[in-house]
Amino acid sequence: PPVLETRDLGRRYESRGETVDALKGIDFRIERGEFVSIIGPSGSGKSTFLNMLGLLDEPTSGEVLLNGEDVSHLTDREQTTVRKRTIGFVFQQFYLIGTLTAQENVEVPRLFDDDPQTAERAADLLGRVGLANRRTHLPSELSGGQKQRVAIARSLINNPGVVLADEPTGNLDRKTGETILEEFTRVTEEGVAVIAVTHDEKVNDYVDRTVEIVDGELA
Ligand code: ADP
Ligand code: ADP
Repeated sequence: PPVLETRDLGRRYESRGETVDALKGIDFRIERGEFVSIIGPSGSGKSTFLNMLGLLDEPTSGEVLLNGEDVSHLTDREQTTVRKRTIGFVFQQFYLIGTLTAQENVEVPRLFDDDPQTAERAADLLGRVGLANRRTHLPSELSGGQKQRVAIARSLINNPGVVLADEPTGNLDRKTGETILEEFTRVTEEGVAVIAVTHDEKVNDYVDRTVEIVDGELA
């Protein structure tokens, strides 16, 4: 089965007496090793879709399947477990913890796991993103591109099947952004699926496929 799939996925917001159908029956699938970008105008439903894919918010209709299993109807607690095991997150703002070293930031998702192999895996991941010699640096001592590579390493610490990236190059200059896109390409070559929501047209040069959302529907 695809690593991630949605079937007839819908999300309705009701607030201030207004109803907004932010997603209207989206059928989407992504296989291991695929790099897919999601584009679309502001307010078209991209953030909402990413939140559904990341099990961060409940759909009002339809299903989200991870490795063929419908996870949209699991309890919050079960979803947290599934999310941790199968989904990595990368954000525009990096969200590194300023008082922790690069190595410690990569270990954060496993903080409560008490696994003696975590440190070795984090160090290995930092090496793979070209930061072997930056392990003990604090975020304030790293460039934007280096910070985002730490975030990519962190997103991979639990060996996820898919990484969700929200404007991953949005805070980087063009050239640095390209090195990050190359990094994601390497991640997909190792069999991980990557989904990037982005306005960055450069991303099109790197992805296997682009999906456009317009007014809550796939265009
Ligand atoms: P995009 O990420 O493409 O800019 P969003 O997914 O943020 O779009 O928003 C899609 C639509 O849903 C917009 O009309 C937005 O105003 C609405 N929306 C998003 N989040 C909420 C919310 N929490 N409550 C009410 N409406 C929301
Ligand atoms: P982006 O630029 O990344 O698409 P947005 O500014 O559209 O982000 O929205 C950021 C977040 O704010 C959304 O994920 C959603 O949770 C919330 N949001 C967006 N629109 C609304 C809204 N109309 N009412 C309440 N919350 C909203």
